[in-house]
Amino acid sequence: MMQTIEKIKDWSKKNDVEFIKNVNLKRFSYFKSGGNAQIILFPNNLLKIKNCIKFLNKNFIKFKVIGETTNLIFLDDVDYTCFISSTKLNKITFDLNKNEIVSETGVMLPELSRFALKKSLTGFEGLEGIPGSVGAAVFMNAGAYGNEVKQTLVSVEVILPNGLIKKYKKNQLKLSYRNSIFRTEKNNEIIYKCIFKGKKGNSLSIYNKMSLFHNKRHKYQEWMYPNLGSLYSGSVYRSLAKKDFIFGLISSGYYLIFYKWKLFRRESPDNRNWLNNIAVKRFGINFKNQPFSNKDMNTLINNGHHTDEILDYISQLKKLIGDSVPIENEIVKKF
Ligand SMILES: Cc1cc2nc3c(=O)[nH]c(=O)nc-3n(C[C@H](O)[C@H](O)[C@H](O)COP(=O)(O)OP(=O)(O)OC[C@H]3O[C@@H](n4cnc5c(N)ncnc54)[C@H](O)[C@@H]3O)c2cc1C
Repeated sequence: MMQTIEKIKDWSKKNDVEFIKNVNLKRFSYFKSGGNAQIILFPNNLLKIKNCIKFLNKNFIKFKVIGETTNLIFLDDVDYTCFISSTKLNKITFDLNKNEIVSETGVMLPELSRFALKKSLTGFEGLEGIPGSVGAAVFMNAGAYGNEVKQTLVSVEVILPNGLIKKYKKNQLKLSYRNSIFRTEKNNEIIYKCIFKGKKGNSLSIYNKMSLFHNKRHKYQEWMYPNLGSLYSGSVYRSLAKKDFIFGLISSGYYLIFYKWKLFRRESPDNRNWLNNIAVKRFGINFKNQPFSNKDMNTLINNGHHTDEILDYISQLKKLIGDSVPIENEIVKKF
């Protein structure tokens, strides 16, 4: 292993690719989990990322491309070898002739969304609060509040394992709910450039929508503890309700009274502690230190947990709700 890392280091120095080594993923990652990463490379232009990919593949060194790590559960006891971070590939421009936004993979979604606002383009408003990168958003067709990447994406350019570039039109990507060919079939192709086209809109109404979604997120999303948004694509409560008629009645009543009709307060509650406690008791969910957010059982939190505790919760939920809803967060196994 040491030899491999030395080889990557020497190559990176020669090719002017920034890197950090011996990285504590608990400090580096968004979820503050994981063991060690021997080396993380930060190419900052097309040539450098192409060369990285070519070099690593030619030398049979396994690696994984990461963006902001906002969907990734790195495991505490794993010593990972090599990651390529896309975060320095962050140029975004506007093609006036084609009316298209041209974004490198590492641009963050809030930036894409605000860039579109400046151009009065609609279709990106819901993406404003997603803390991930554009490339990873294509990888999983990210979306929220009625917007998903699929609606505005035109095409992507990817880097193949041999360093060559390939173009895909949107309709070749099998973009569906939180999925694409990059997640299923083509996981050795690295998205480099993404092209988007929005419809011309009214900038004030775009601004107002973004503002509304931003406020909603603040209310419904976990902010106190490191987290990764939704664990499953879909509502865990709904899936649990299908398993147990009584819980179904309780959770639908809770939803109607506190969220839809807002019978007792003008505002819906800030958390779902009451419903969560009922679910934990009824379904016998076990933990020492609550691994999910008070706001939603579908959001993992890291409150000093070992990742084994997180995996244990995921497997308990999986036993309860089966494969009916796909898991959205990704567990990064040793590779
Ligand atoms: C607070 C919070 C709220 C969230 N809300 C939402 C939401 O509303 N909607 C939603 O869809 N998601 C949401 N997410 C999840 C997450 O932000 C998205 O999945 C986002 O697209 C991940 O981007 P990332 O840059 O962090 O990717 P990472 O987590 O770093 O990577 C995710 C996957 O993408 C792959 N990948 C990354 N870059 C590339 C590339 N260039 N080419 C090929 N593969 C690549 C990685 O290998 C990995 O498999 C939320 C997360 C958090 C923490």
